[in-house]
Amino acid sequence: MTQRAYNFSAGPAVLPEPVLAEVQRDLMALPSDKASILEISHRGKTFKEIIAAAEANLRKLLQIPDSYAVLFLQGGSRLQFSMVPMNLLDEGHPSADYVLTGSWSKNSLKEGQKLGDMRIIWDGGDDNYTRLPADAELQVDPRAAYLHYCCNETIHGVQFRSEPASGDVPLVCDASSDFLYKPIPIERYGIVYACAQKNSGPAGVTIVVIRKDLLERSRDNLPSYLNYKVQAEAGSLMNTAPTFAIYVVRMVTDWLLNEIGGLEKMYAQNQKKAKMLYDVLDASDGFYAGHAQPECRSVMNVVFRLPSDELTKKFVAEAAEHDLTNLGGHRSVGGVRASIYNAMPVAGVETLRDFMIRFRDANAK
Ligand code: PMP
Repeated sequence: MTQRAYNFSAGPAVLPEPVLAEVQRDLMALPSDKASILEISHRGKTFKEIIAAAEANLRKLLQIPDSYAVLFLQGGSRLQFSMVPMNLLDEGHPSADYVLTGSWSKNSLKEGQKLGDMRIIWDGGDDNYTRLPADAELQVDPRAAYLHYCCNETIHGVQFRSEPASGDVPLVCDASSDFLYKPIPIERYGIVYACAQKNSGPAGVTIVVIRKDLLERSRDNLPSYLNYKVQAEAGSLMNTAPTFAIYVVRMVTDWLLNEIGGLEKMYAQNQKKAKMLYDVLDASDGFYAGHAQPECRSVMNVVFRLPSDELTKKFVAEAAEHDLTNLGGHRSVGGVRASIYNAMPVAGVETLRDFMIRFRDANAK
């Protein structure tokens, strides 16, 4: 079998090895069906059990009460940029508020603006998206349909430590790149959505947790697939669900519960991993310059620059020779990005840390 590298891809990203091993073992035939997960009906007993178990695991991990629905949808997080305004705007709430903290919140605003007269209540663009707003900087319109924000900006590497205050306005969160990295107070949210391909599974499914009273805002004239209420009533099985992706989400959430021991433990491990890398940045005399201000640093995506583009290229190439892969920063910001999601083992981050120290010692003037 091909040797696996430590893969720091921003997404689709590393999955827990025990999950990959189980997928491989059962891919030819599930014991219950003597057929592959790829070959069975989304309406059969086995798949119904799989999707119910995935939902139950998510409810347990995040302590999601019955007053919220959990949906498994397609179209990625990008479709949520449109589904949120399509479903939540109405005559009484014709506009929504957006907090811009990086590329992803800007992308969500762009889609929202096609559907409503959105208000930008904070924009970190002048600081090149290196910091996040304090609550005192956010003046939320009490009539807004919702307040949208992105809790972890995958490209800029800034991450909220807590939920922004939104008063009675439903808080909508793009949690694509840090979903399940720690416990969250779910009752603070109207909607949390996250594509699976970073922290909870493969590409192909997006998890939407929505407060049930908000389902009443979905109008009947929306296309059925794009209507949260229709999706909730159908248990995400209005059409053929992404069965394989949901199956893997079920296994990743099993892993979080049974092998990691829940989200508090996951969070402790994630903080430990991130600290290892940020400590190298801080001790490097400016050789590695972090993008985010220290108090806004992401625990999931560690983004930094080297003194020159040549050194950045050399760093990424030499790291790959040591089986530390996919460390190039996003094309829009350059530099280096180490995505250290839940499934990145501590040993992978230790190996990267040691490489960074050796590289600096060999290349700093
Ligand atoms: N939001 C964030 C924070 C992301 O990181 C991404 C993907 N990188 C998206 C949205 C878009 O997700 P998708 O490609 O599943 O539409």
